[in-house]
Amino acid sequence: MAEISTIGVIGAGQMGNGIAHVSALAGYDVVLTDVSEAALAKGMTTIEANMARQVARQVITPDDLKAALKRIRPSADIKAHAGSDLVIEAATEKRELKEQIFRSVSEVVPAHAFLATNTSSISITRLASVTNRPERFIGLHFMNPVPLMKLVEVIRGLNTDQETYETAIIFAKRIGKTTTNAEDYPAFIVNRVLMPMINEAVYTLYEGVGNVESIDTAMRLGANHPMGPLQLADFIGLDTCLSIMQVLHDGLADTKYRPCPLLVKFVEAGWLGKKSGKGFYDYSGDHPVATR
Ligand code: NAD
Repeated sequence: MAEISTIGVIGAGQMGNGIAHVSALAGYDVVLTDVSEAALAKGMTTIEANMARQVARQVITPDDLKAALKRIRPSADIKAHAGSDLVIEAATEKRELKEQIFRSVSEVVPAHAFLATNTSSISITRLASVTNRPERFIGLHFMNPVPLMKLVEVIRGLNTDQETYETAIIFAKRIGKTTTNAEDYPAFIVNRVLMPMINEAVYTLYEGVGNVESIDTAMRLGANHPMGPLQLADFIGLDTCLSIMQVLHDGLADTKYRPCPLLVKFVEAGWLGKKSGKGFYDYSGDHPVATR
């Protein structure tokens, strides 16, 4: 089995900074890249703040924090992955963008390196096919927020070999995650089940069955969900939710997956949820306030 010591992470947004966080705490060296210098800076600040919270809760020590932060090297240059043994892509949920990233990064990494994507919905087999190593390519679907959520969904493409799968499982274990296997069909398991529910919650808002608070309260107290579906959609990112629905709709050609026009409208407005400051809730004050 190939020895993995350096983890490359592409995309320093909500998911990428979380993956860098847990990898560094597990003792891996981490190279974190993003096209945006601002996103990189924000990602590093978030990692430090989240680790500081773990120190306050005595989950890690101040020394763990210091050592882990030192292990993360941020860079705006994709060539920084020249020494990465396993690169996990966590950039924006757009197929063309991810294909472009994988075309470039597969030319940069060493021959032994593995490539993984954190996509929520896009075909692993298709992303693998643009690289020079489809057999060393796998889907590793983390949950948000990465430091807290236990699951990693593991998705093998048509070409993924056994060594890649076993390496991915060893990595997931070392960062303290539990894995589950899903086949490579649109949105895999978690989002195949979750996202139509979120989309349906947006439809109930769109059709006036309830307002934001009544829908979220109904599902929190009525279905015992820890978060209402609209709050969860804001947390995931409305652009990501829309993109997943589009992949389900296109990939399964079933009208039951049609994205709600209200979800489309929010994304058009740049209301992407918590990460942009506004979605089904407005996050500019001390407490989130429903926007409808
Ligand atoms: P995000 O918007 O917070 O972050 C995306 C980052 O990608 C941004 O920092 C952006 O600058 C960067 N980026 C864009 N183009 C790039 C490029 N060409 N090269 C490098 N970086 C680039 O999004 P996110 O919520 O972190 O989602 C990232 C991925 O993780 C998506 O594929 C998404 O489907 C998946 N995912 C998201 C969640 C969730 O709950 N948000 C959960 C599981 C998986």
